[in-house]
Amino acid sequence: MKLKLFVPGRLCLFGEHTDWAGKYRSMNADIVPGASIVTGIEQGIYAEVEKSTIFEMTSEASEIKDVWQDFSCQMEEQELKGIARSGSFFSYCAGVASYMLEWYKVGGVKITLHSMTLPMKSGLSSSAAICVLVARAFNQLYHLNLNTMGEMNIAYLGELRTSSRCGRLDQACAFGVKPNLMTFDGEEVEVKTLKLGGTFYWVFADLCAEKNTIKILRDLNKGFPFASNEMEEREQRALGELNQKIINRAVEYLERGDAENLGKLMVEAQQLFDFNVAPMCPEELTSPKLHETLNDPVLQRMTYGGKGVGSQGDGSIQFLAKDQECQAKVIEYMNSRGMKAYALTLQPETGMGQYQQNATQGKINLGYQYSKGTKTMKRILVTGGAGFIGSHLCERLVNEGHDVICLDNFYTGSKENVWHLLGRPNFEIVRHDVCQPYWAEVDEIYNLACPASPIHYQHDPIQTTKTSVFGAYYMLGLARRTKCKILQSSTSEVYGDPAVHPQPESYWGNVNTIGIRSCYDEGKRCAETMFFDYHRQHGVRIKVIRIFNTYGPRMAQHDGRVVSNFIMQALRGEDITIYGDGKQTRSFQYVSDLVEGMIRMMESGDDFTGPVNIGNPGEFTMLELAEKVIEFTGSKSKIVFEPLPQDDPKMRRPDITLAKEKLDWEPKVKLDEGLKKTIEYFKTTL
Ligand code: NAD
Ligand code: UDP
Repeated sequence: MKLKLFVPGRLCLFGEHTDWAGKYRSMNADIVPGASIVTGIEQGIYAEVEKSTIFEMTSEASEIKDVWQDFSCQMEEQELKGIARSGSFFSYCAGVASYMLEWYKVGGVKITLHSMTLPMKSGLSSSAAICVLVARAFNQLYHLNLNTMGEMNIAYLGELRTSSRCGRLDQACAFGVKPNLMTFDGEEVEVKTLKLGGTFYWVFADLCAEKNTIKILRDLNKGFPFASNEMEEREQRALGELNQKIINRAVEYLERGDAENLGKLMVEAQQLFDFNVAPMCPEELTSPKLHETLNDPVLQRMTYGGKGVGSQGDGSIQFLAKDQECQAKVIEYMNSRGMKAYALTLQPETGMGQYQQNATQGKINLGYQYSKGTKTMKRILVTGGAGFIGSHLCERLVNEGHDVICLDNFYTGSKENVWHLLGRPNFEIVRHDVCQPYWAEVDEIYNLACPASPIHYQHDPIQTTKTSVFGAYYMLGLARRTKCKILQSSTSEVYGDPAVHPQPESYWGNVNTIGIRSCYDEGKRCAETMFFDYHRQHGVRIKVIRIFNTYGPRMAQHDGRVVSNFIMQALRGEDITIYGDGKQTRSFQYVSDLVEGMIRMMESGDDFTGPVNIGNPGEFTMLELAEKVIEFTGSKSKIVFEPLPQDDPKMRRPDITLAKEKLDWEPKVKLDEGLKKTIEYFKTTL
């Protein structure tokens, strides 16, 4: 068995040095516990791991080819410990492997690095990421059932077995790209995932200057466990009591989504450090490059604040940008001045918070199934991945570290929809028509390929039916051969013009077999039939969702759907065209809610096949929708009435009882909020 793993680097936002300081509480109870806020970043290590008789590490990662030499040794305790102590390039990995052998009597592993997007020696803990990777490889290949905290502990102890002196916060990368509050009380470490109240546009950068971390740590440790002069007392107070106050405020601002005050707090934290801690090691902590950059007026204009990173010194720097545009400009500016800058966008979670929190607090043992840093990387095929919904799904899966193949013939989708993903090492795009067989080794398939808006699917109705039916047939064949899970994006159209309202999954529908919508409706119904027959006849692991009207950024401008039509008409000051009397109803869900529902469905147990409705039960008439669009765009457009198309359903609203019960899912984004975001998107396309 081969597994794909991704482990990100980590960035300490607040509270650096308090991990080791808090550890001294086991010797001096007067020391205040340490606390820091740490997040995984988007850059990290991508690797494939498999069992072996020995311990081997190889690399195909182009980023590190100049420093890398393959390594292997026997799975033998003394040999591994010797390599760990030798201080060589692989000492960390050997340290972790030695613990795994000592405690769990495991066999060997082979780890092949595919890509290393994490800059090394830049305060982002690439060594800790490697240690977590090794711990996770053993854990998953030998089914040790360690949760994230367990992997983190072994990574820490493994690194300690070397000459390196890492802190406890370094392994926070194990928890993925989300901020965690870590507390350090003697030997005890606690981790709690923070819930964000807004989006934060961080930038961090390698200053590309010199610093000596070993000296910083050696000098700062002199003040512990017992301070012997005023300077040492000040250091202890700064890393204890004063730090605790900063952390409390940082948590409050993060949870409130208050970027402005958080930025100011970064400046305050840096001043506190410079005044109280830096005097312990002025040679390294006066850090001229760091301060010159923090004081750069151009950067100050575009950010709410900034501070040092990690052990501080002239290593790395971080800023909180005012918005996304400023974030991009800060990066460009820093890069043009010889630094290496990266974006880190921290966003509120959509629904996974509870799982993540449980996993991080060690209450359940399944941490690796849920979050980016703690999830097994899967190879996932998304057909129709360059379309509106597909592109959002690909983005989410890529961000979670999965290896994503986006298959599309660009009939209604476009490369622009996934442009931003094209440089990512775990994303590839394949031009292919699903009406032809396609072969690939995959773990999951999301089958979305099919034109979805009435004008698109009615443009070439024969092709529409073929895409639904042949597409389902070939993808089911692939799922059967690879034994992977397959999710079908079916539609509320299978209910036709419904006689039951709202529509539960048990309702069989009211569909015209020969009308102009039938190519889509009946194509999707036939695909559902085939899914269930493949399940019954061949045991294919199927998942069928029925999607209700979905909207959001990247809807095609001219797809004729009501949301895109109304918004474009309003923004251009054209008449808003209501078909019929405008009293027909629809329920509109925002695309991020749908993507969350799709992923939850895919991750549910094999015994739950669906079909399950995924939609927003809020029901609106087209007249109400038009009025909202006019209000939110401030448009002067008038409403005009045009004939209702044939077979246009009079009402539609999902009954989502089943999704709530089986997937613990319900939509979060209200129509007003989603419409405003979508309007902002369409403004950029004008
Ligand atoms: P979309 O038109 O934006 O995306 C469909 C994608 O499939 C496009 O990228 C298109 O190029 C691709 N495609 C079409 N035919 C193909 C073929 N033969 N081979 C390969 N690729 C092909 O539509 P969307 O709104 O993103 O819908 C995605 C899926 O969700 C569809 O299956 C649709 O039926 C379903 N759905 C959407 C909605 C909605 O409101 N958007 C509602 C119910 C169901
Ligand atoms: N509609 C409308 N004006 C438009 C486009 C659509 O009144 O410019 C109506 C359409 O007749 C239907 C509803 O809006 O009743 C939703 O149409 P859409 O094509 O978005 O989706 P579907 O009919 O597939 O639900």
